[in-house]
Amino acid sequence: MGNDQAFAELGLPNDASESEIKAAWRRLASRWHPDRNASAQAVARMQRINQAFESIQRARQGQADAPEPPPPPPPPPAPAAGAEPPTEPPAQAARPDQPPIRRKLKLTLEEAAAGCIKALRGKFTPVCHHCAGQGHRTLANACKRCRGKGTFVRPSAWFGWPGQPEECGDCAGTGIAREDCGPCGATGSLPVQNYEVQARIPPGVRDGDLLHVAARRAPADLEVQVGVAPHPLFTLHDDGSLSCKVPVDAFAWMANRPVSIPTLDGVQPLALQRDRRHYALPGLGFPVRHRGPRAEQRVEIEPVFPDRFGSDQDILLDQLIASNAGADPRLAEWQRTLRARDRKRPPG
Ligand SMILES: [Zn+2]
Ligand SMILES: [Zn+2]
Repeated sequence: MGNDQAFAELGLPNDASESEIKAAWRRLASRWHPDRNASAQAVARMQRINQAFESIQRARQGQADAPEPPPPPPPPPAPAAGAEPPTEPPAQAARPDQPPIRRKLKLTLEEAAAGCIKALRGKFTPVCHHCAGQGHRTLANACKRCRGKGTFVRPSAWFGWPGQPEECGDCAGTGIAREDCGPCGATGSLPVQNYEVQARIPPGVRDGDLLHVAARRAPADLEVQVGVAPHPLFTLHDDGSLSCKVPVDAFAWMANRPVSIPTLDGVQPLALQRDRRHYALPGLGFPVRHRGPRAEQRVEIEPVFPDRFGSDQDILLDQLIASNAGADPRLAEWQRTLRARDRKRPPG
């Protein structure tokens, strides 16, 4: 954490005095300590407040290089009104002070369109709420070992020659006394827990959407990133419309027959019209937004003619051609034009 950021975290200007820094830390710590604050952000806030305070202390000790009296001890967190020193919360209860469990969930396009309920199982390492994940508690006085300086000089065995200053391991160089957290063995995290959640996915989620799933039987809330698998038949567009291409028998198309086409709701009949290749089916697309109305599905048909006609088909085609002779005025007109041009041709 940079110095400016550290001051900002404590809500202070960069030139704040030592006493202002301590007062700000005391105020924020009493408000955000997870033993007193059950909100979801408490752990993370408390970590940042402590980091900011320690980083400012470190910077100031770095500036004052010369040996100095140990800085005055940092203040203890003031107990909240009526609150006793922290009591241990039940270890197994789902707590709202955990950062969310982040995970991914892959859905089919059909599941994403209609919504679904998915069982999510996994393992989760809870942040220790006794120490806000720090592995230690910050105490009210200066570190005994380094007398609040953050460093100490180990006496050399050689003729009393002074050694190099070393960072104090007891306080990680902060000068502030700390004690290891017992419940987490100073690791900052508690034993791994299994969780299982029935997550309700609303209709209309898109690839990349982040869903918040409230914890009821999980040790923390879940943040689920949805992935929607590409569909073999449909292309999903930004406006929620779906498009697909459907090959159809060209004779059925010419004869205005119905054909079966796929939709998200299953196979449905579509009455073909021989002058159309594009069709729009309102309300059969993807939801426009979460839980919203559904957009349209667009179908482009591709009439497929046989590469080669069988002899039976040839006979039928001949009959068709014969039956069409002179039947259409556009063709009759064209034949007359052709004959007229033929007569005007100079004799060769
Ligand atoms: Zn702990
Ligand atoms: Zn120390």
